[in-house]
Amino acid sequence: MRILLVKPGALERDEAGNILYASSSVTLIISDRTVVVDTGSADERELVFDGLKRYGASPDDIEIVVNTHLHEDHTGGNDMFRNADLLSYHTGLREGCILARGVSVIETPGHTLDSISVLCMPGSVVIAGDALPTADNYIKDLPPRIHADRALALRSMHRIAGIARIVVPGHGMPFSIPDGHEAELR
Ligand SMILES: [Zn+2]
Repeated sequence: MRILLVKPGALERDEAGNILYASSSVTLIISDRTVVVDTGSADERELVFDGLKRYGASPDDIEIVVNTHLHEDHTGGNDMFRNADLLSYHTGLREGCILARGVSVIETPGHTLDSISVLCMPGSVVIAGDALPTADNYIKDLPPRIHADRALALRSMHRIAGIARIVVPGHGMPFSIPDGHEAELR
């Protein structure tokens, strides 16, 4: 399996903490099927296209697009992927659903109630969407600032930290989880 970052996520806030601009991480997984997780904002198609091209892929090659949730900074490029099945919590993705060999779904609600993450094994890479939006949330043990349910969001974040060795957060660069830290978080 190969897990490739097509485009890192971005997040800009003003001084009061209001979001000025947000665009999600876009991740390509090549296993027995070709999967893209989240598609960024509508105005970033070119970046996504170029990112795929860097890995020798084109949008038409992608068989499955997973949206971790339906905020528009995660779904804006969905229509680039004309041949793909568009999957999310709303199409029936639930805990344990298999997307491809070694690639499965974990339910991580709280940011939104429909938030899911994608777990890749071996290697325990979790593509978290906004269930874990930035490394800073993990380091400071703070749930996503935007959440439908704070306690649930924190629990999901801890769950991801307990499973993952590497996290692809919704709005930042991938980071690793140190060994044994999950015990401290729980
Ligand atoms: Zn979101």
